[in-house]
Amino acid sequence: MKLIFIGADHEVTGSCHFLSLDHPVYGSKPVYMLVDCGMEQGPDYFENKPLPVKAQDIRYVFLTHAHVDHSGMLPKLYRDGFRGTVLTTSATKDLSEIMLRDAAHIQAADAEYAKKKKGNSPSADTEPAFTMEDAEGLIRLIESYRYDKTYDLEEGIRFRFTDVGHLLGSASVEIWLQEKDPETGAKYERKLVFSGDIGNRDQPILRDPQRTKDADYVIMESTYGDRLHEKEGEGHDYVTDLARIIRRTLLRGGNLVIPSFAVGRTQVMLYFIRQIKRDGLVPEIPDFPVYVDSPMAVDATSVFNENDRECYDEDAQKLLDEGINPLVFPRLYLSITQEESKAINTDDEPKVIISASGMCDAGRIRHHLKYNLWRKESTILFVGYQTVGSLGRRLLDGADTVRMFGVDIDVKAEILKLPGLSGHADRNGLLWWLEGFEEKPGHVFVVHGDSEAAESFTALLREKGYQADAPYSGTAVDLIRDTFLLKTEGIPIRKKIAQNTESDAYRKLRNTAKLLEQQIAESRGLPNKELERFAEELDKLMKKYRIENE
Ligand SMILES: [Zn+2]
Repeated sequence: MKLIFIGADHEVTGSCHFLSLDHPVYGSKPVYMLVDCGMEQGPDYFENKPLPVKAQDIRYVFLTHAHVDHSGMLPKLYRDGFRGTVLTTSATKDLSEIMLRDAAHIQAADAEYAKKKKGNSPSADTEPAFTMEDAEGLIRLIESYRYDKTYDLEEGIRFRFTDVGHLLGSASVEIWLQEKDPETGAKYERKLVFSGDIGNRDQPILRDPQRTKDADYVIMESTYGDRLHEKEGEGHDYVTDLARIIRRTLLRGGNLVIPSFAVGRTQVMLYFIRQIKRDGLVPEIPDFPVYVDSPMAVDATSVFNENDRECYDEDAQKLLDEGINPLVFPRLYLSITQEESKAINTDDEPKVIISASGMCDAGRIRHHLKYNLWRKESTILFVGYQTVGSLGRRLLDGADTVRMFGVDIDVKAEILKLPGLSGHADRNGLLWWLEGFEEKPGHVFVVHGDSEAAESFTALLREKGYQADAPYSGTAVDLIRDTFLLKTEGIPIRKKIAQNTESDAYRKLRNTAKLLEQQIAESRGLPNKELERFAEELDKLMKKYRIENE
């Protein structure tokens, strides 16, 4: 009985854990399983080890939630031969279908773009990791299960999903595994709990995360393992804040543009705006229009509308009891076609526009930014985390101009952030979840956090008397004996790039940079005017070649 860490180890994306039952109690063939099969997104720091077995030999994948960094490589697994079963909750099944089809579209578009850039020279890089057919094939393998019910998967394997309040359908998964000793026939049972992403308490729509009572092993996330969320001030809440921002923007004749993730955050915004309209918090323009401009957000909203009541918190359930849809209100426009999307910016009526992507690096939001960033009446409101390097982050950091669609756009709009909203528990929330165990679990493995977060949280757990480790990809654990079969070190990605993928042209460019540095050092003492001109010219050159994510 083994656990091998594959992805999201000292990193926040690409979640994937491998389990093997080498001597199952029934049958002679080993049983191989995964928990999550996510895509790596954004900055990638460490190399991931490949799966230790062929995709076709994997029998089960437990899926904790629909976010692409937990589910996005499932179609690739299918392409590689996986034909087993994906087990998850019903809302995750529905959301995954939307997100995996979207991921397949993105793969196709990226491959097309790469091909164009490369000309006709064939290269493995320009092939998509998977196609729509792979996504559709995989989707047919997903089975849904209820929360809080223990299922026998086959003799010696049981599991149960528990609502962990991170996203509609999100779950932590308890897995009981039995193995027999091939010589003595003695049976061993071990219980693992994979936390999935742990939600934040007191967030709208979703229930608070539920805790689990017992485990031999806990594999838990640590996204905010070294941080606390900003606390809300006294007498201050999201709805009042949002109403104030909407009112101020619309009254001065501008649009409120909200870059938002299609699944989760968009629905939270709709939930707030329904309350704002119900309570008449924008009294001058009570029936202001609201546009949701993201096909995926529109699909996801219908999943929210159609799914089990068991996913919702008390407030949302009460509304449903009264026959009220908590995500619908007058003058809500769900625009879907490109034409409908374009039409949003052609009339002058001040409006709220919610669009993806949340970090502004892709999608229709970029068109809305193009039309609104230069308008001082408009407001851009961020409602989610903005990673370093994203356009959203640059705007929040106060950029005066940004380059989009090949032109520089002056930023005149008001740039704001709605603090406190987060789909992730902070350090205290993570600790609260872990303290739900009646007895300390035998061993806690800290994953799904960047190095600092994972290590800081591991240190905190050790201080509190837990046996805790933050493994790197490839680390293997004997689950019967609780010993490391292999303890790996992280292999930084950067080294690999430097050794293998540096082209001649790139090497030449780096050489020139060194010469430039030398020349700068030598020009110390030259007249200031000359130095200034030198700097200006360099500035111009750098601007010309700056890489923008269009
Ligand atoms: Zn997530």
